[in-house]
Amino acid sequence: GKVLVSGANGYIAAEGFSVRGAVRSIDKGAHLRELFAAHGEKFELAVVPDVTQAGAFDEAVKGVDAIEHTASPFHFQADDPAEMLEPAIQGTVGILESARKYGTAVKRVVVTSSCAAVSTVSDQPQFLSEVNWNDQSPREVEQKGRDASGAAKYRTSKILAERAAWDFVARHGAEIGWDLVVLNPPLVLGPMIHAVASVDALNTSTRSMYNALTAPGAAGGGGCWTDVRDLAHAHVRALQRPLAGGERIIIAAGAFAWQDWLDAVPPASRYQKGTPGAGKDHVHLLRYDTGKSVRVLGMKYRSMADTAAAVVADYEARGW
Ligand code: NDP
Repeated sequence: GKVLVSGANGYIAAEGFSVRGAVRSIDKGAHLRELFAAHGEKFELAVVPDVTQAGAFDEAVKGVDAIEHTASPFHFQADDPAEMLEPAIQGTVGILESARKYGTAVKRVVVTSSCAAVSTVSDQPQFLSEVNWNDQSPREVEQKGRDASGAAKYRTSKILAERAAWDFVARHGAEIGWDLVVLNPPLVLGPMIHAVASVDALNTSTRSMYNALTAPGAAGGGGCWTDVRDLAHAHVRALQRPLAGGERIIIAAGAFAWQDWLDAVPPASRYQKGTPGAGKDHVHLLRYDTGKSVRVLGMKYRSMADTAAAVVADYEARGW
């Protein structure tokens, strides 16, 4: 079968077995072509310059058996909320609309949402599952507009895009020959195979790891994480497992303090050490129930030691 992967040049998409990779320009596909050169005709590029245009994916969906929609802005620098919301929501609804109209072979669509669509920011301990929805960020953006935090704008883009996807399926269920799976990862960490020319080109999540390992004093705080290779595997399983259809699934390895990563890197590596062991004092307010990912997708999660070793090997190979 053939799979259309949007955002194919991004950090997460480049890990999967993409077959038709949608990118915004030919240039952005160059690295992918090289990466998958050995796969010959099994990899092709589709250029979709603007996901917010009506019908943007009409051609790209033709003839594919499944779609993985990962393309969405991921940063905390937006001024106008629309800069995040429009591509996130219109991109998601647009690819589903194209699938409805022209994706005659499509059997499943997987949308990469986020734990940002699940969790709220709270000073109380939370143990969250797929029944939880982040309705807090959209309220913040509605009330504060441009003055809302960059994170709130991103988080809002994720929850509204995910809701729009479920609404689409509810509205068009009778006319479509495919079902929807939504994957919700927290912070995605681990080695990179996509084009990253320099440290300046790191994406939001990989930069946070780089900063923690290299920037003095940057290893405070923590969060929840998952390894990019596990998330890629989850995207593949989400296509393969019949029971995943119609499910929203959290993909999370666990909670971390940044200091835990400093402690987990191989001892001989040259990154900063912080205060070894201090991670155990970190209060983890947020945890996720990942039982569904284990039951439905058979997920097994990598350890911090595995991910840390792979990250350091990746940095060293790049001379960082
Ligand atoms: P990257 O920033 O590495 O990749 C984002 C991808 O989305 C790129 O291909 C990018 O294309 C594309 N994209 C961004 N904005 C637009 C736009 N306006 N129009 C078309 N394409 C766009 O991030 P990730 O790979 O990490 O993110 C992939 C998905 O995973 C996103 O949906 C993100 O929200 C989600 N996610 C990521 C997490 C993480 O920690 N990394 C955690 C939870 C969810 P281009 O290069 O052309 O900008």
